[in-house]
Amino acid sequence: MSEHEKYYYSEILPFMKERYGKKLGKIGLTLHIPCPNEPPCIFCNRDSFIPQTIKGAVTVKEQMEQGLPYVKRKYPTDQFVAYFQDNTSTYGDINYLKKSFREALSYPEIRVLALSTRPDSIYPALLEMLNRTAGGRDVWLELGLQSVHDSTLKTIGRGHDYACFLNAFKMIRENTDFLAGVHLIIGLPCETDEMVFETFREINRIKPDYIKIHHLQVIKGTGLEKIFKNGGYEPLTLKKYIELFSKAVSYLDRSIVIHRNLSRAHADQLIAPKWGIIAEEFKEKVHEYMDKNGLYQGSSL
Ligand code: SF4
Repeated sequence: MSEHEKYYYSEILPFMKERYGKKLGKIGLTLHIPCPNEPPCIFCNRDSFIPQTIKGAVTVKEQMEQGLPYVKRKYPTDQFVAYFQDNTSTYGDINYLKKSFREALSYPEIRVLALSTRPDSIYPALLEMLNRTAGGRDVWLELGLQSVHDSTLKTIGRGHDYACFLNAFKMIRENTDFLAGVHLIIGLPCETDEMVFETFREINRIKPDYIKIHHLQVIKGTGLEKIFKNGGYEPLTLKKYIELFSKAVSYLDRSIVIHRNLSRAHADQLIAPKWGIIAEEFKEKVHEYMDKNGLYQGSSL
């Protein structure tokens, strides 16, 4: 951010420039391993997470060979984050995980190993393996949480409670210098506005390095699709999401980087809400709302 640019919230691009000297591109990868949460979270269609660029490729090496030329065309940079984003990227045989992460890190263009996972798939031997495998390169370890309210976690079928998350987060902080991220969803069933704000205030106490936020989407083939079709869930309007996002962020400490503000499922998988908005437009609308209401990250603390 230039010194004349107005501050709204802490974004990923300035963070990357400060830490890595440039913007990093992202290559999405999969381990082809299942998620242990059965039945899945009500909003989850696991196939929808598999990166489009590497469909059909099996080993990480094959995925890298297939995906790297694509991301090199897409991003004006020469350094990348290897992002294992689907299912639970620390679940299963630790030797298979080690081999897969090593394959990704064998490419000199890879600056960061990023793993999206569940709190109940974090354990000391895994953190030790990651420490050794990363060999000094950054690891971004992201835990799905979605809400700090146990009642919500039960409603959405997370299969773990908030205490389980706290335990995993503590283990990461005490044993590694990884960057720790948290995934949060706004618009979960049965949550009031105040419950959303409570989650963000509580997140300040935990102090992750970054969070990823998105609105709840109804995806084909999920439990939420059935609830939605039976009239049991009303998706957020864009106007309401902008309001909740802006207010929630105003409760967030400025040191926490907001790595994502919106999620867009593939058109053939998305049932609702269909806003047809891209990230840049969304950002402008949030800025407008924040300007009107005198909000910015941390302004309500
Ligand atoms: S933990 Fe993640 S991958 Fe597993 S069911 Fe829930 S959202 Fe899907």
